[in-house]
Amino acid sequence: WSGNNFPWTKKLEANNKKVFGNHSFRLNQREVINATMSGYDVFVLMPTGGGKSLTYQLPALICPGVTLVISPLVSLIQDQIMHLLQANIPAAYLSANMEWTEQQEIFRELNSEYCKYKLLYVTPEKVAKSDVLLRQLENLNARQLLARIVIDEAHCVSQWGHDFRPDYQALGILKQKFPNTPVLALTATATASVKEDVVQALGLVNCIVFRQSFNRPNLWYSVIPKTKKCLDDIDKFIKENHYDESGIIYCLSRMDCEKVAERLQECGHKAAFYHGSMDPAQRAFVQKQWSKDEINIICATVAFGMGINKPDVRFVIHHSLPKSIEGYHQECGRAGRDGQRSSCVLYYSYSDYIRVKHMISQGVIEQSPLASGYNRSNTANSGRVLETNTENLLRMVSYCENDVDCRRILQLIHLGEKFDCTTCKKTCDNCLKIKSFMEKDVTGIAKQLVELVKLTGQQFSSSHILEVYRGSFSQFVKKHRHQTVTLHGVGKHLAKGEASRVLRHLVTEDLLSEEVKKSDVYGSVSSILKVNELKACELFSGRKTILIRSVHYY
Ligand code: ADP
Repeated sequence: WSGNNFPWTKKLEANNKKVFGNHSFRLNQREVINATMSGYDVFVLMPTGGGKSLTYQLPALICPGVTLVISPLVSLIQDQIMHLLQANIPAAYLSANMEWTEQQEIFRELNSEYCKYKLLYVTPEKVAKSDVLLRQLENLNARQLLARIVIDEAHCVSQWGHDFRPDYQALGILKQKFPNTPVLALTATATASVKEDVVQALGLVNCIVFRQSFNRPNLWYSVIPKTKKCLDDIDKFIKENHYDESGIIYCLSRMDCEKVAERLQECGHKAAFYHGSMDPAQRAFVQKQWSKDEINIICATVAFGMGINKPDVRFVIHHSLPKSIEGYHQECGRAGRDGQRSSCVLYYSYSDYIRVKHMISQGVIEQSPLASGYNRSNTANSGRVLETNTENLLRMVSYCENDVDCRRILQLIHLGEKFDCTTCKKTCDNCLKIKSFMEKDVTGIAKQLVELVKLTGQQFSSSHILEVYRGSFSQFVKKHRHQTVTLHGVGKHLAKGEASRVLRHLVTEDLLSEEVKKSDVYGSVSSILKVNELKACELFSGRKTILIRSVHYY
Protein backbone atom coordinates (compact mmCIF):
# COMPACT_ATOMS: atom_id res chain seq x y z
CA TRP A 1 0.00 0.00 0.00
CA SER A 2 2.99 2.30 0.15
CA GLY A 3 3.08 2.74 -3.65
CA ASN A 4 3.00 6.16 -5.22
CA ASN A 5 1.60 5.34 -8.62
CA PHE A 6 -2.09 5.11 -7.80
CA PRO A 7 -4.36 7.20 -10.04
CA TRP A 8 -4.80 9.73 -7.20
CA THR A 9 -1.16 9.97 -6.08
CA LYS A 10 -0.36 13.29 -7.74
CA LYS A 11 -3.52 14.95 -6.45
CA LEU A 12 -2.88 13.51 -3.01
CA GLU A 13 0.62 14.88 -2.73
CA ALA A 14 -0.30 18.27 -4.15
CA ASN A 15 -3.21 18.70 -1.70
CA ASN A 16 -1.20 17.43 1.25
CA LYS A 17 1.24 20.26 0.65
CA LYS A 18 -1.08 22.98 -0.59
CA VAL A 19 -4.14 22.55 1.61
CA PHE A 20 -2.72 20.89 4.74
CA GLY A 21 0.76 22.45 4.62
CA ASN A 22 2.57 19.11 5.15
CA HIS A 23 5.88 18.34 3.42
CA SER A 24 5.47 14.57 3.55
CA PHE A 25 3.35 11.78 4.99
CA ARG A 26 3.87 10.32 8.41
CA LEU A 27 4.18 6.60 9.15
CA ASN A 28 1.23 4.66 7.61
CA GLN A 29 -0.69 7.76 6.44
CA ARG A 30 -0.07 7.14 2.73
CA GLU A 31 -0.76 3.42 3.15
CA VAL A 32 -4.09 3.98 4.92
CA ILE A 33 -5.18 6.53 2.32
CA ASN A 34 -4.30 4.22 -0.58
CA ALA A 35 -6.18 1.31 0.99
CA THR A 36 -9.34 3.26 1.80
CA MET A 37 -9.33 4.99 -1.60
CA SER A 38 -9.06 1.57 -3.24
CA GLY A 39 -12.43 0.81 -1.65
CA TYR A 40 -11.39 -1.49 1.21
CA ASP A 41 -12.63 -1.47 4.79
CA VAL A 42 -9.67 -0.37 6.89
CA PHE A 43 -8.89 -0.52 10.63
CA VAL A 44 -6.18 1.85 11.84
CA LEU A 45 -4.34 1.69 15.15
CA MET A 46 -2.20 4.80 15.39
CA PRO A 47 -0.99 6.48 18.57
CA THR A 48 -2.47 9.83 19.58
CA GLY A 49 -0.81 12.60 17.62
CA GLY A 50 0.12 10.15 14.84
CA GLY A 51 -2.03 12.03 12.32
CA LYS A 52 -5.23 10.02 11.94
CA SER A 53 -7.38 12.94 10.78
CA LEU A 54 -5.40 13.43 7.58
CA THR A 55 -6.12 9.81 6.54
CA TYR A 56 -9.78 10.69 5.95
CA GLN A 57 -9.73 14.46 5.45
CA LEU A 58 -7.39 14.25 2.47
CA PRO A 59 -9.42 11.51 0.68
CA ALA A 60 -12.61 13.47 1.49
CA LEU A 61 -11.14 16.48 -0.23
CA ILE A 62 -10.16 14.72 -3.44
CA CYS A 63 -13.06 12.23 -3.80
CA PRO A 64 -16.47 13.20 -5.12
CA GLY A 65 -19.29 13.14 -2.56
CA VAL A 66 -19.56 13.50 1.20
CA THR A 67 -17.54 11.64 3.85
CA LEU A 68 -19.54 10.80 6.97
CA VAL A 69 -17.46 11.00 10.17
CA ILE A 70 -18.74 9.60 13.45
CA SER A 71 -16.93 11.22 16.34
CA PRO A 72 -17.75 10.92 20.05
CA LEU A 73 -17.57 14.45 21.41
CA VAL A 74 -19.11 17.66 20.15
CA SER A 75 -16.10 19.63 21.45
CA LEU A 76 -13.71 17.51 19.33
CA ILE A 77 -16.01 17.86 16.31
CA GLN A 78 -16.16 21.64 16.65
CA ASP A 79 -12.38 21.78 16.86
CA GLN A 80 -12.03 19.72 13.67
CA ILE A 81 -14.63 21.78 11.78
CA MET A 82 -12.85 24.98 12.75
CA HIS A 83 -9.57 23.67 11.27
CA LEU A 84 -11.30 22.42 8.10
CA LEU A 85 -13.08 25.71 7.48
CA GLN A 86 -9.79 27.57 8.03
CA ALA A 87 -8.33 25.41 5.26
CA ASN A 88 -11.35 26.21 3.06
CA ILE A 89 -12.72 22.67 3.19
CA PRO A 90 -16.55 22.81 3.48
CA ALA A 91 -17.71 20.75 6.45
CA ALA A 92 -20.69 20.61 8.79
CA TYR A 93 -21.88 18.70 11.85
CA LEU A 94 -25.11 17.43 13.29
CA SER A 95 -25.60 16.64 16.95
CA ALA A 96 -28.59 15.63 19.03
CA ASN A 97 -28.81 18.93 20.92
CA MET A 98 -28.71 21.21 17.89
CA GLU A 99 -31.64 23.52 17.01
CA TRP A 100 -34.02 21.87 14.55
CA THR A 101 -33.85 24.82 12.13
CA GLU A 102 -30.07 24.57 12.06
CA GLN A 103 -30.33 20.86 11.27
CA GLN A 104 -32.87 21.55 8.52
CA GLU A 105 -30.42 23.90 6.87
CA ILE A 106 -27.75 21.21 6.75
CA PHE A 107 -30.22 18.64 5.40
CA ARG A 108 -31.24 21.09 2.69
CA GLU A 109 -27.65 21.48 1.59
CA LEU A 110 -27.13 17.69 1.60
CA ASN A 111 -30.19 17.34 -0.65
CA SER A 112 -29.07 19.98 -3.09
CA GLU A 113 -27.80 18.87 -6.47
CA TYR A 114 -24.26 20.13 -5.90
CA CYS A 115 -23.90 19.55 -2.18
CA LYS A 116 -20.92 21.63 -1.12
CA TYR A 117 -19.96 19.64 2.00
CA LYS A 118 -16.94 17.39 1.76
CA LEU A 119 -17.30 16.15 5.35
CA LEU A 120 -20.33 15.65 7.58
CA TYR A 121 -19.56 14.99 11.27
CA VAL A 122 -22.16 13.36 13.52
CA THR A 123 -22.19 12.00 17.06
CA PRO A 124 -22.96 8.27 17.47
CA GLU A 125 -26.23 9.15 19.24
CA LYS A 126 -27.37 10.84 16.08
CA VAL A 127 -26.90 7.64 14.05
CA ALA A 128 -28.53 5.48 16.73
CA LYS A 129 -31.56 7.72 17.25
CA SER A 130 -32.24 9.69 14.09
CA ASP A 131 -34.23 8.04 11.31
CA VAL A 132 -34.09 11.34 9.47
CA LEU A 133 -30.30 11.10 9.27
CA LEU A 134 -30.43 7.51 8.01
CA ARG A 135 -32.91 8.49 5.31
CA GLN A 136 -30.66 11.36 4.38
CA LEU A 137 -27.68 9.02 4.06
CA GLU A 138 -29.75 6.62 1.94
CA ASN A 139 -30.59 9.51 -0.30
CA LEU A 140 -26.90 10.50 -0.63
CA ASN A 141 -25.98 6.89 -1.32
CA ALA A 142 -28.65 6.55 -4.02
CA ARG A 143 -27.10 9.59 -5.70
CA GLN A 144 -23.65 7.96 -5.29
CA LEU A 145 -22.56 10.80 -3.05
CA LEU A 146 -21.77 8.86 0.13
CA ALA A 147 -18.02 8.60 -0.37
CA ARG A 148 -16.81 6.97 2.82
CA ILE A 149 -17.82 6.28 6.44
CA VAL A 150 -15.24 7.10 9.11
CA ILE A 151 -15.55 5.88 12.69
CA ASP A 152 -13.26 7.81 14.99
CA GLU A 153 -12.34 6.43 18.44
CA ALA A 154 -13.60 3.08 17.17
CA HIS A 155 -12.60 1.26 20.38
CA CYS A 156 -15.76 2.76 21.97
CA VAL A 157 -17.72 0.12 20.02
CA SER A 158 -16.39 -2.65 22.25
CA GLN A 159 -17.59 -3.45 25.73
CA TRP A 160 -14.23 -5.00 26.29
CA GLY A 161 -12.60 -1.62 25.71
CA HIS A 162 -12.19 0.89 28.50
CA ASP A 163 -14.37 3.58 26.90
CA PHE A 164 -17.43 1.56 25.91
CA ARG A 165 -20.23 3.71 24.59
CA PRO A 166 -23.50 1.85 23.82
CA ASP A 167 -24.52 4.13 20.94
CA TYR A 168 -21.39 3.05 19.09
CA GLN A 169 -22.84 -0.48 18.88
CA ALA A 170 -25.70 0.78 16.74
CA LEU A 171 -23.15 1.76 14.08
CA GLY A 172 -23.26 -1.81 12.71
CA ILE A 173 -26.36 -0.66 10.84
CA LEU A 174 -24.22 1.51 8.55
CA LYS A 175 -22.49 -1.43 6.88
CA GLN A 176 -25.83 -3.25 6.58
CA LYS A 177 -27.43 -0.30 4.83
CA PHE A 178 -24.39 0.75 2.78
CA PRO A 179 -22.44 -2.45 2.07
CA ASN A 180 -20.51 -0.90 -0.81
CA THR A 181 -19.30 2.19 1.01
CA PRO A 182 -15.78 1.80 2.44
CA VAL A 183 -15.52 2.13 6.22
CA LEU A 184 -12.43 3.52 7.90
CA ALA A 185 -12.23 2.76 11.66
CA LEU A 186 -9.63 4.69 13.66
CA THR A 187 -8.36 4.37 17.21
CA ALA A 188 -5.31 5.05 19.36
CA THR A 189 -6.01 2.22 21.75
CA ALA A 190 -7.20 -1.32 21.20
CA THR A 191 -6.16 -4.72 22.45
CA ALA A 192 -6.36 -7.61 20.00
CA SER A 193 -9.72 -8.62 21.52
CA VAL A 194 -11.10 -5.09 21.23
CA LYS A 195 -10.01 -4.88 17.60
CA GLU A 196 -11.72 -8.17 16.79
CA ASP A 197 -14.85 -7.11 18.61
CA VAL A 198 -14.99 -3.78 16.75
CA VAL A 199 -14.48 -5.43 13.34
CA GLN A 200 -17.32 -7.86 14.11
CA ALA A 201 -19.74 -5.29 15.51
CA LEU A 202 -19.24 -2.93 12.59
CA GLY A 203 -19.54 -5.79 10.09
CA LEU A 204 -16.28 -4.88 8.33
CA VAL A 205 -15.48 -7.17 5.42
CA ASN A 206 -11.95 -8.31 4.39
CA CYS A 207 -10.71 -5.53 6.55
CA ILE A 208 -7.14 -4.29 6.10
CA VAL A 209 -5.45 -3.53 9.41
CA PHE A 210 -2.68 -0.99 9.90
CA ARG A 211 -0.97 -0.86 13.25
CA GLN A 212 2.24 0.67 14.42
CA SER A 213 4.24 0.31 17.57
CA PHE A 214 2.67 1.83 20.64
CA ASN A 215 6.02 2.00 22.39
CA ARG A 216 6.91 5.53 23.47
CA PRO A 217 10.71 5.46 23.96
CA ASN A 218 10.90 8.89 25.64
CA LEU A 219 8.53 7.94 28.49
CA TRP A 220 10.14 6.54 31.66
CA TYR A 221 7.84 4.25 33.62
CA SER A 222 7.92 3.39 37.31
CA VAL A 223 5.65 2.01 40.01
CA ILE A 224 6.22 3.14 43.60
CA PRO A 225 4.64 1.67 46.74
CA LYS A 226 2.05 4.13 48.03
CA THR A 227 2.37 4.98 51.70
CA LYS A 228 0.80 7.59 53.98
CA LYS A 229 3.59 9.93 52.89
CA CYS A 230 2.51 9.72 49.24
CA LEU A 231 1.86 13.46 48.89
CA ASP A 232 5.28 14.30 50.40
CA ASP A 233 6.81 11.84 47.94
CA ILE A 234 5.01 13.49 45.01
CA ASP A 235 6.09 16.96 46.14
CA LYS A 236 9.71 15.80 46.45
CA PHE A 237 9.63 13.96 43.14
CA ILE A 238 8.39 17.02 41.27
CA LYS A 239 10.84 19.39 42.99
CA GLU A 240 13.79 17.12 42.31
CA ASN A 241 12.92 16.14 38.76
CA HIS A 242 10.41 18.50 37.19
CA TYR A 243 10.37 21.76 39.10
CA ASP A 244 8.22 24.37 37.35
CA GLU A 245 7.48 21.96 34.52
CA SER A 246 4.10 20.92 33.25
CA GLY A 247 2.39 17.75 34.49
CA ILE A 248 -0.84 15.89 35.22
CA ILE A 249 -1.68 14.03 38.43
CA TYR A 250 -4.52 11.55 37.90
CA CYS A 251 -6.64 10.98 41.00
CA LEU A 252 -9.49 8.61 41.68
CA SER A 253 -12.19 10.84 43.13
CA ARG A 254 -13.16 14.46 42.91
CA MET A 255 -12.26 14.94 46.55
CA ASP A 256 -8.80 13.45 45.97
CA CYS A 257 -8.21 15.95 43.14
CA GLU A 258 -9.03 18.84 45.44
CA LYS A 259 -6.97 17.49 48.36
CA VAL A 260 -3.89 16.78 46.23
CA ALA A 261 -4.07 20.20 44.52
CA GLU A 262 -4.42 21.98 47.86
CA ARG A 263 -1.47 20.15 49.37
CA LEU A 264 0.76 20.86 46.38
CA GLN A 265 -0.19 24.53 46.51
CA GLU A 266 0.86 24.56 50.17
CA CYS A 267 4.19 23.09 49.08
CA GLY A 268 4.69 26.01 46.67
CA HIS A 269 3.57 24.46 43.38
CA LYS A 270 1.27 26.18 40.91
CA ALA A 271 -1.44 23.50 40.97
CA ALA A 272 -5.19 23.34 40.32
CA PHE A 273 -7.85 20.63 40.22
CA TYR A 274 -10.17 19.50 37.40
CA HIS A 275 -13.11 17.09 37.62
CA GLY A 276 -16.59 16.30 36.39
CA SER A 277 -18.59 18.20 39.00
CA MET A 278 -17.06 21.58 38.14
CA ASP A 279 -19.11 23.64 35.73
CA PRO A 280 -17.87 23.66 32.12
CA ALA A 281 -16.69 27.30 32.27
CA GLN A 282 -14.60 26.56 35.36
CA ARG A 283 -13.09 23.51 33.71
CA ALA A 284 -12.30 25.40 30.52
CA PHE A 285 -10.66 28.16 32.59
CA VAL A 286 -8.37 25.72 34.46
CA GLN A 287 -7.47 23.93 31.23
CA LYS A 288 -6.59 27.23 29.56
CA GLN A 289 -4.42 28.34 32.50
CA TRP A 290 -2.57 25.04 32.32
CA SER A 291 -2.16 25.20 28.54
CA LYS A 292 -0.66 28.68 28.86
CA ASP A 293 1.67 27.57 31.70
CA GLU A 294 0.01 29.90 34.21
CA ILE A 295 -0.34 26.80 36.33
CA ASN A 296 1.98 23.80 36.05
CA ILE A 297 0.15 20.93 37.64
CA ILE A 298 -3.38 19.80 37.04
CA CYS A 299 -4.84 17.28 39.53
CA ALA A 300 -7.61 15.58 37.63
CA THR A 301 -9.86 12.59 37.24
CA VAL A 302 -9.81 10.74 33.91
CA ALA A 303 -12.36 13.34 32.75
CA PHE A 304 -9.27 15.36 31.80
CA GLY A 305 -7.11 14.65 28.79
CA MET A 306 -9.17 14.01 25.64
CA GLY A 307 -8.13 16.19 22.76
CA ILE A 308 -5.37 17.85 24.76
CA ASN A 309 -2.39 18.54 22.59
CA LYS A 310 0.07 20.18 24.99
CA PRO A 311 3.44 19.00 23.68
CA ASP A 312 5.63 19.65 26.75
CA VAL A 313 3.89 17.67 29.50
CA ARG A 314 6.94 16.40 31.42
CA PHE A 315 5.21 14.08 33.89
CA VAL A 316 2.04 12.07 34.41
CA ILE A 317 1.62 10.82 37.96
CA HIS A 318 -1.07 8.33 38.98
CA HIS A 319 -1.94 9.06 42.59
CA SER A 320 -4.17 5.95 42.54
CA LEU A 321 -4.54 2.72 40.64
CA PRO A 322 -5.87 3.19 37.07
CA LYS A 323 -8.84 1.04 36.00
CA SER A 324 -7.15 -0.78 33.13
CA ILE A 325 -3.82 -1.11 31.35
CA GLU A 326 -5.20 0.45 28.15
CA GLY A 327 -6.50 3.41 30.13
CA TYR A 328 -3.16 3.74 31.92
CA HIS A 329 -1.23 3.59 28.65
CA GLN A 330 -3.43 6.26 27.14
CA GLU A 331 -3.21 8.55 30.17
CA CYS A 332 0.61 8.22 30.26
CA GLY A 333 0.62 8.94 26.52
CA ARG A 334 -0.30 12.56 27.27
CA ALA A 335 3.28 13.10 28.46
CA GLY A 336 6.17 13.89 26.14
CA ARG A 337 4.36 14.52 22.86
CA ASP A 338 7.37 16.61 21.83
CA GLY A 339 9.60 13.52 22.08
CA GLN A 340 11.54 14.83 25.12
CA ARG A 341 12.18 12.62 28.13
CA SER A 342 9.17 12.55 30.47
CA SER A 343 8.21 10.58 33.60
CA CYS A 344 5.23 8.31 34.24
CA VAL A 345 5.01 7.41 37.92
CA LEU A 346 2.30 5.26 39.44
CA TYR A 347 1.74 5.09 43.22
CA TYR A 348 0.31 1.68 44.06
CA SER A 349 -1.24 0.19 47.17
CA TYR A 350 -3.43 -2.88 47.45
CA SER A 351 -5.99 -0.90 49.44
CA ASP A 352 -6.52 1.31 46.38
CA TYR A 353 -7.47 -1.84 44.49
CA ILE A 354 -10.23 -2.51 47.01
CA ARG A 355 -11.35 1.10 46.76
CA VAL A 356 -11.43 1.19 42.94
CA LYS A 357 -13.24 -2.15 42.84
CA HIS A 358 -15.89 -0.84 45.21
CA MET A 359 -16.29 2.39 43.22
CA ILE A 360 -16.68 0.44 39.97
CA SER A 361 -19.32 -1.83 41.49
CA GLN A 362 -21.23 1.20 42.81
CA GLY A 363 -21.00 2.94 39.42
CA VAL A 364 -19.55 6.05 41.12
CA ILE A 365 -16.17 6.12 39.42
CA GLU A 366 -15.61 9.02 37.04
CA GLN A 367 -15.29 8.04 33.38
CA SER A 368 -13.40 9.53 30.51
CA PRO A 369 -15.57 11.89 28.43
CA LEU A 370 -15.76 9.24 25.71
CA ALA A 371 -17.65 6.82 27.93
CA SER A 372 -19.49 9.35 30.05
CA GLY A 373 -23.24 9.66 30.01
CA TYR A 374 -23.48 5.92 30.35
CA ASN A 375 -24.05 4.54 33.81
CA ARG A 376 -22.84 0.97 33.72
CA SER A 377 -24.63 -0.08 36.88
CA ASN A 378 -28.02 0.72 35.32
CA THR A 379 -27.75 -1.57 32.34
CA ALA A 380 -29.41 -4.94 32.06
CA ASN A 381 -26.07 -6.63 31.52
CA SER A 382 -24.26 -4.87 34.34
CA GLY A 383 -23.14 -8.23 35.80
CA ARG A 384 -21.09 -9.00 32.72
CA VAL A 385 -19.76 -5.48 32.39
CA LEU A 386 -18.71 -5.63 36.03
CA GLU A 387 -16.85 -8.88 35.38
CA THR A 388 -15.00 -7.28 32.48
CA ASN A 389 -14.08 -4.26 34.57
CA THR A 390 -12.89 -6.42 37.42
CA GLU A 391 -10.74 -8.48 35.05
CA ASN A 392 -9.21 -5.26 33.63
CA LEU A 393 -8.53 -4.01 37.14
CA LEU A 394 -6.92 -7.29 38.23
CA ARG A 395 -4.53 -7.05 35.30
CA MET A 396 -3.61 -3.57 36.39
CA VAL A 397 -2.89 -4.95 39.88
CA SER A 398 -0.62 -7.66 38.49
CA TYR A 399 1.18 -5.00 36.41
CA CYS A 400 1.87 -3.04 39.62
CA GLU A 401 2.88 -6.08 41.63
CA ASN A 402 5.27 -7.32 38.97
CA ASP A 403 8.70 -6.10 40.02
CA VAL A 404 10.66 -8.17 37.53
CA ASP A 405 9.49 -7.78 33.94
CA CYS A 406 9.99 -4.83 31.64
CA ARG A 407 7.07 -2.37 32.05
CA ARG A 408 7.00 -1.76 28.31
CA ILE A 409 6.59 -5.48 27.60
CA LEU A 410 3.79 -5.68 30.16
CA GLN A 411 1.89 -2.77 28.62
CA LEU A 412 2.51 -3.70 25.01
CA ILE A 413 1.53 -7.38 25.37
CA HIS A 414 -1.78 -6.08 26.49
CA LEU A 415 -2.11 -4.00 23.34
CA GLY A 416 -1.28 -7.09 21.27
CA GLU A 417 2.29 -6.04 20.51
CA LYS A 418 5.47 -8.02 21.03
CA PHE A 419 8.41 -6.07 22.36
CA ASP A 420 12.04 -6.93 22.91
CA CYS A 421 12.99 -5.82 26.43
CA THR A 422 16.57 -4.92 25.42
CA THR A 423 15.00 -2.04 23.47
CA CYS A 424 13.76 -0.57 26.78
CA LYS A 425 17.35 0.50 27.50
CA LYS A 426 16.68 0.71 31.23
CA THR A 427 13.95 3.32 30.94
CA CYS A 428 11.58 1.51 33.29
CA ASP A 429 12.07 0.84 37.00
CA ASN A 430 12.24 -2.93 36.58
CA CYS A 431 14.85 -2.91 33.79
CA LEU A 432 16.79 -0.20 35.65
CA LYS A 433 17.18 -2.04 38.94
CA ILE A 434 18.18 -5.34 37.41
CA LYS A 435 21.90 -5.91 37.11
CA SER A 436 21.60 -8.98 34.99
CA PHE A 437 18.95 -11.49 34.42
CA MET A 438 19.03 -15.18 33.95
CA GLU A 439 16.36 -17.27 32.43
CA LYS A 440 14.35 -19.56 34.64
CA ASP A 441 12.77 -22.71 33.23
CA VAL A 442 9.04 -22.73 34.06
CA THR A 443 7.99 -25.37 31.52
CA GLY A 444 6.35 -27.46 34.28
CA ILE A 445 4.14 -24.59 35.43
CA ALA A 446 3.34 -23.71 31.82
CA LYS A 447 2.16 -27.27 31.11
CA GLN A 448 -0.10 -27.23 34.17
CA LEU A 449 -1.66 -23.91 33.19
CA VAL A 450 -2.32 -24.99 29.60
CA GLU A 451 -3.77 -28.26 30.89
CA LEU A 452 -6.00 -26.36 33.29
CA VAL A 453 -7.36 -24.14 30.50
CA LYS A 454 -8.24 -27.32 28.61
CA LEU A 455 -9.72 -29.11 31.63
CA THR A 456 -12.08 -26.19 32.29
CA GLY A 457 -13.29 -26.23 28.69
CA GLN A 458 -11.52 -23.10 27.30
CA GLN A 459 -14.37 -20.95 28.53
CA PHE A 460 -12.79 -18.87 31.30
CA SER A 461 -10.75 -15.72 31.82
CA SER A 462 -7.10 -15.67 32.90
CA SER A 463 -7.94 -14.44 36.40
CA HIS A 464 -10.32 -17.36 36.92
CA ILE A 465 -7.72 -19.87 35.71
CA LEU A 466 -5.20 -18.36 38.14
CA GLU A 467 -7.70 -18.57 40.99
CA VAL A 468 -8.32 -22.26 40.37
CA TYR A 469 -4.57 -22.90 40.01
CA ARG A 470 -3.92 -21.23 43.36
CA GLY A 471 -6.69 -23.27 45.01
CA SER A 472 -9.43 -20.70 45.52
CA PHE A 473 -12.83 -21.81 46.84
CA SER A 474 -14.60 -18.63 45.72
CA GLN A 475 -18.31 -18.72 44.87
CA PHE A 476 -17.54 -18.56 41.16
CA VAL A 477 -15.06 -21.47 41.43
CA LYS A 478 -17.64 -23.54 43.30
CA LYS A 479 -20.45 -22.58 40.90
CA HIS A 480 -18.49 -24.27 38.12
CA ARG A 481 -17.28 -27.09 40.43
CA HIS A 482 -13.69 -26.21 39.57
CA GLN A 483 -12.55 -27.11 43.10
CA THR A 484 -12.90 -30.71 41.90
CA VAL A 485 -10.59 -30.31 38.89
CA THR A 486 -7.37 -32.32 39.36
CA LEU A 487 -5.09 -29.30 39.04
CA HIS A 488 -7.03 -27.19 41.58
CA GLY A 489 -4.55 -25.66 44.04
CA VAL A 490 -1.44 -27.14 42.41
CA GLY A 491 0.14 -23.67 42.14
CA LYS A 492 -0.45 -22.54 45.72
CA HIS A 493 3.22 -22.93 46.73
CA LEU A 494 4.45 -20.52 44.02
CA ALA A 495 5.75 -17.04 44.82
CA LYS A 496 3.15 -14.30 44.53
CA GLY A 497 2.62 -13.25 40.94
CA GLU A 498 4.71 -16.03 39.43
CA ALA A 499 1.83 -18.02 37.93
CA SER A 500 0.38 -14.82 36.54
CA ARG A 501 3.73 -13.98 34.90
CA VAL A 502 3.91 -17.43 33.33
CA LEU A 503 0.35 -17.12 32.04
CA ARG A 504 1.05 -13.69 30.45
CA HIS A 505 4.18 -15.18 28.92
CA LEU A 506 2.16 -18.01 27.38
CA VAL A 507 -0.06 -15.41 25.72
CA THR A 508 2.97 -13.61 24.24
CA GLU A 509 4.33 -16.94 23.01
CA ASP A 510 0.99 -17.65 21.31
CA LEU A 511 0.45 -20.87 23.29
CA LEU A 512 -2.67 -19.32 24.71
CA SER A 513 -4.77 -16.66 23.09
CA GLU A 514 -7.40 -14.37 24.50
CA GLU A 515 -10.64 -14.35 22.63
CA VAL A 516 -13.77 -12.35 22.95
CA LYS A 517 -16.79 -14.34 23.95
CA LYS A 518 -20.22 -12.95 23.22
CA SER A 519 -22.07 -14.15 26.24
CA ASP A 520 -25.78 -13.53 26.26
CA VAL A 521 -28.80 -12.02 24.63
CA TYR A 522 -27.49 -8.55 25.42
CA GLY A 523 -24.43 -9.33 23.32
CA SER A 524 -22.08 -8.50 26.21
CA VAL A 525 -18.54 -9.75 25.96
CA SER A 526 -15.81 -11.21 28.11
CA SER A 527 -12.31 -12.37 27.33
CA ILE A 528 -11.54 -16.08 27.59
CA LEU A 529 -8.40 -18.15 27.17
CA LYS A 530 -8.09 -20.63 24.31
CA VAL A 531 -5.29 -23.11 23.68
CA ASN A 532 -3.29 -23.03 20.46
CA GLU A 533 -3.21 -26.80 19.90
CA LEU A 534 -0.22 -26.82 17.55
CA LYS A 535 2.01 -24.93 19.95
CA ALA A 536 0.65 -26.89 22.90
CA CYS A 537 1.76 -30.10 21.17
CA GLU A 538 5.32 -28.74 21.00
CA LEU A 539 5.17 -27.96 24.71
CA PHE A 540 3.84 -31.34 25.79
CA SER A 541 6.18 -33.29 23.48
CA GLY A 542 9.19 -31.56 25.05
CA ARG A 543 10.14 -29.64 21.89
CA LYS A 544 9.42 -26.32 23.54
CA THR A 545 10.62 -24.96 26.86
CA ILE A 546 9.25 -21.88 28.55
CA LEU A 547 11.73 -19.45 30.10
CA ILE A 548 10.96 -16.32 32.09
CA ARG A 549 13.20 -13.65 33.58
CA SER A 550 14.87 -14.41 36.87
CA VAL A 551 16.84 -11.51 38.24
CA HIS A 552 19.94 -10.31 40.05
CA TYR A 553 19.34 -6.91 41.56
CA TYR A 554 21.97 -4.21 41.86
P1 ADP B 1 -4.45 12.00 15.94
O1 ADP B 1 -5.88 12.18 15.51
O2 ADP B 1 -3.83 10.75 15.41
O3 ADP B 1 -4.25 12.16 17.42
P2 ADP B 1 -4.07 14.42 14.47
O4 ADP B 1 -4.73 14.00 13.22
O5 ADP B 1 -4.79 15.36 15.37
O6 ADP B 1 -3.58 13.17 15.29
O7 ADP B 1 -2.64 15.05 14.08
C1 ADP B 1 -1.77 15.51 15.08
C2 ADP B 1 -0.96 16.68 14.55
O8 ADP B 1 -0.06 16.24 13.54
C3 ADP B 1 -1.81 17.77 13.92
O9 ADP B 1 -1.33 19.01 14.37
C4 ADP B 1 -1.58 17.59 12.43
O10 ADP B 1 -1.69 18.81 11.72
C5 ADP B 1 -0.16 17.07 12.37
N1 ADP B 1 0.10 16.24 11.18
C6 ADP B 1 -0.65 15.21 10.72
N2 ADP B 1 -0.10 14.67 9.62
C7 ADP B 1 1.04 15.36 9.36
C8 ADP B 1 2.07 15.28 8.37
N3 ADP B 1 2.03 14.38 7.39
N4 ADP B 1 3.08 16.16 8.45
C9 ADP B 1 3.14 17.08 9.44
N5 ADP B 1 2.20 17.22 10.39
C10 ADP B 1 1.16 16.37 10.38
